[in-house]
Amino acid sequence: MAVQEVEDIFADIVDCVKALDPANVRRWFEKLTVTHLSGGLLEIGCPDEATLQFLRDNCKNSFTQAAQRITGHLVTVDFNIVARDESGRRSDRSMLGPKLHPDYTFDNFVVGPSNRLGHASCVAVSHSLGNTYNPLFLYGSSGLGKTHLLHAVCYEVRQKVDKAVIQFLSCEEFINRFIRAIEKGNLAGFQNQFRTVDALVIDDVQFFREREQSQEEFFHTFNALYNNGKQIILSADSPPGKMPSLEDRLISRFNWGLVTRIDPPSYETRVAIVQKKAHIRGINISDEITEYIARKVHANIRELEGALTTIYAVSTTTGKPITLELAQIALEGQIESAARFISITDIIEVVTGHFDVRLADLQSKRRSQSITLPRQICMYLARNLTKHSLEEIGGHLGGRDHTTVMHACNKIGQADRSDTQMHALLAELTKQITQVPKA
Ligand code: ADP
Ligand code: MG
Repeated sequence: MAVQEVEDIFADIVDCVKALDPANVRRWFEKLTVTHLSGGLLEIGCPDEATLQFLRDNCKNSFTQAAQRITGHLVTVDFNIVARDESGRRSDRSMLGPKLHPDYTFDNFVVGPSNRLGHASCVAVSHSLGNTYNPLFLYGSSGLGKTHLLHAVCYEVRQKVDKAVIQFLSCEEFINRFIRAIEKGNLAGFQNQFRTVDALVIDDVQFFREREQSQEEFFHTFNALYNNGKQIILSADSPPGKMPSLEDRLISRFNWGLVTRIDPPSYETRVAIVQKKAHIRGINISDEITEYIARKVHANIRELEGALTTIYAVSTTTGKPITLELAQIALEGQIESAARFISITDIIEVVTGHFDVRLADLQSKRRSQSITLPRQICMYLARNLTKHSLEEIGGHLGGRDHTTVMHACNKIGQADRSDTQMHALLAELTKQITQVPKA
């Protein structure tokens, strides 16, 4: 096939992906290249490790489906990094280190009064690990950009500092890796892994509560790093002193450096964030619509982004341009249902009905796929549609602990993004749940 022909086919495939899975389309898709297309194999080149991870995690299915539709053949899709820099300045080094989301950079972070200090302290730390604020502790409600900032620091350090070793993980992952190390009798390996880094970044440390042994281990990790002048960055949903069941000695250490709060964004910041998100995804929307979204959604930036995704999805699936009217139709449904009180019972009712299982099965210890899947879907939907905590959701489903619920939410969330059938099923269940008539 001629090069031009391959490129044309690939352009069609990308267009098809945009229609199949609009939520995961990014502006940088324009930079993707085809490195191979024949014999049932499509290899796609992307610029760096972060985009590679994003594609592998979120886009494999949609690219496969699109390639099969456009070429009319069975196609396997693979993604690879193509180094564009002739000097080979980095690219292979970027293969090391934590898994980062390509959207979560400082460039893509909108600074406003609500997050100015958090942003500035992260930038300062990324310029000089261990020398400015140590530890750096960010806190604030869910969906206000804490995880985004932590990724941005790691991203920045990885760009700038040769061979910096960063461990970036969620608190749950730290706990799980610690438990696994104990089970395998390899505590020394675990300690070595965490005590020899240049920066340790742990997201959502509130999950250390009631995990005494993990807290103890973390305490020693903290001391080892701190005494060696290594950087520690933490995030949580509340300030150190307000975290229940956290040991005093940890609380006092968290306060040694800088503790900064992130607040909900002002209207102006929300407008700028919607513009930024639209730009990243290559979506064109007018000022009028941007302002409409920013007025509609107040407290949580994740929801602000969700509103934009909904509007874009409605526009691509109906083939209609994004007008204010379309935005209103797309969002009214969503906002009304969010405002309406949905209980876990509503969710369980719809899910058990769909899968033809009983509540008692969901609450039982049974772990066959026919029970586990509806149970995990209940957890995921409860997490998204209600304000219940992970513990409360676990409580309703047979007294399961928060890590089980978290695991279910991650697993189903991943499937929601990568598996079109699952996406359609979840959308249908959500529709039914939000329409359950109230007595
Ligand atoms: P948290 O960890 O505080 O719950 P996240 O970092 O996951 O929140 O942010 C939720 C979403 O909102 C992410 O997609 C993130 O990119 C976005 N976001 C949050 N704050 C900003 C900001 N100031 N500028 C741009 N995007 C933001
Ligand atoms: Mg977070």
